[in-house]
Amino acid sequence: MTDTSSTLTGHCLCGAVALTVQQASRDIEVCHCEMCRKWSGGPLFCLHTVAEGDVGVTGEEHVVRYRSSDWAERAFCGRCGSNLWYQLLPAGTRTVTAGLFDLPQDFAVTQQIFVDERPHWARLAGETVEKTGPQIHAEAEAAGLVTK
Ligand SMILES: [Zn+2]
Ligand SMILES: [Zn+2]
Repeated sequence: MTDTSSTLTGHCLCGAVALTVQQASRDIEVCHCEMCRKWSGGPLFCLHTVAEGDVGVTGEEHVVRYRSSDWAERAFCGRCGSNLWYQLLPAGTRTVTAGLFDLPQDFAVTQQIFVDERPHWARLAGETVEKTGPQIHAEAEAAGLVTK
């Protein structure tokens, strides 16, 4: 019997916010966009995106949300500043930052996005799928999630 779905548990630096994520994918996605870089101080390493309801939050009173664009908000711990997740509002999805979790060995970076905004010092070793910002925007538009 193979059940690839699992519940990941993690927490912010200070421990005020703890998260559980129902996650079947072993993929780590890295975003190189300028917004993620400013937000996190470097490339943003995230778990595979899940539905908002697949993320359990303990310590919700410490979660601060920042509306970073018309279609998304970013959440962080108001006590220690740890980045928690990116929420795509029209889709109701959350992309949770990977560093909050002690992930098993089978997790690996499989995709890098906004590679056209990647600075020279943020290149990763190894082959992954790479997508540019215009490609990501075109996919989001095709899915009806954002408008130009
Ligand atoms: Zn914290
Ligand atoms: Zn980004």
